[in-house]
Amino acid sequence: MQALESFKRQITPPKKIVITTHPKPDADALGSSLGMANYLIKKGNDVTVITPTDYPSFLNWMKGHEDVINFEDKNLKPLALKKISEAEIIICLDFSNLSRINELGEIIGKSKAYKVVIDHHQDPEDFADFMYWSTKAAATCELIYDLIVKIGDQELIDKDIAECLYAGIMTDTGGFKHPNTTKNVHLVTAELIELGADNCKIARLIYDTNSVNRLKFIGFALSRRLVILQELKTAYFSINKKDLRKYASQTGDTEGLVNYALSLDGIKIAALFTEREDGIKISFRSTEDVVINKFAAEYFNGGGHKNAAGGKSDLPLPETLEKFETLIKENKETLFNQLEFIHEKS
Ligand code: 5GP
Ligand code: MN
Repeated sequence: MQALESFKRQITPPKKIVITTHPKPDADALGSSLGMANYLIKKGNDVTVITPTDYPSFLNWMKGHEDVINFEDKNLKPLALKKISEAEIIICLDFSNLSRINELGEIIGKSKAYKVVIDHHQDPEDFADFMYWSTKAAATCELIYDLIVKIGDQELIDKDIAECLYAGIMTDTGGFKHPNTTKNVHLVTAELIELGADNCKIARLIYDTNSVNRLKFIGFALSRRLVILQELKTAYFSINKKDLRKYASQTGDTEGLVNYALSLDGIKIAALFTEREDGIKISFRSTEDVVINKFAAEYFNGGGHKNAAGGKSDLPLPETLEKFETLIKENKETLFNQLEFIHEKS
């Protein structure tokens, strides 16, 4: 409670605040950032949201998105650096390890600003002055709502803020389908609807707004890029650079693809390997009885949640797939019987 009081004092306006989140922000990352930004602006603060990369265009409706600074944009980087150097408070949302945001993390690590982490991922790094963190929360947006209510500012949550927060909870629960869809999730989203969030509009904007290229890309991936290892209860997609070019792939176009692999009967582990400019990006998903984030952390320099994690590989795509298949075979017992990974002695 003392920590909450100190946080409340810190955000007393006027303060210069920078908010950041993880690379390729999803609806929870951007929704929590803009939800928090709009709330803090309403209180009278000067707030800048800086994202480490761009984000999908289907999030472009959130209030304040046009003011977001993409750190990868060379023209905007000097402004981002100025805002960080002037910041009195830096708030990190939906991630909790500075190494995840590369150069931006190094700069934030060196800053003397009061640092805040609000997150629901496992194994957070201990660098913040105030941490509001729980792996029981389905989404960072759920934590932001909780925090604003605890501060006593619920009346400041308007339609715009409610819609940002609703979006993050909706997507991080997989549209209220995943096991993290708790009673609290329904209570909070009910409140957000009461506060003005148009839930049908948000679902349509996020799930039902496709480009022709994206739909054709999904069809292509399903028919040509899906590998099913039935005996290993595993299925994965591998998408190479040429595929991405052929379908003029935009940020966000591969989002959700991995779930088709997990929807197959008898499949408990699904993965999506995407060959990007800076290496292979991997998305892992698993059914409720399989823990996948430890596998991602152990072998693919990643992490995340029990049933939804991510990682990367610097090997070429074919070698990455070979490595993945070998590791699934080797760790079959561990993965499907919920055992701890055995660390090799070096
Ligand atoms: P997605 O597959 O949707 O990109 O990510 C699934 C989950 O894993 C998200 O909670 C995301 O934050 C986390 N995640 C994705 N990539 C990485 C990564 O490279 N490192 C870590 N630690 N977490 C990741
Ligand atoms: Mn999240």
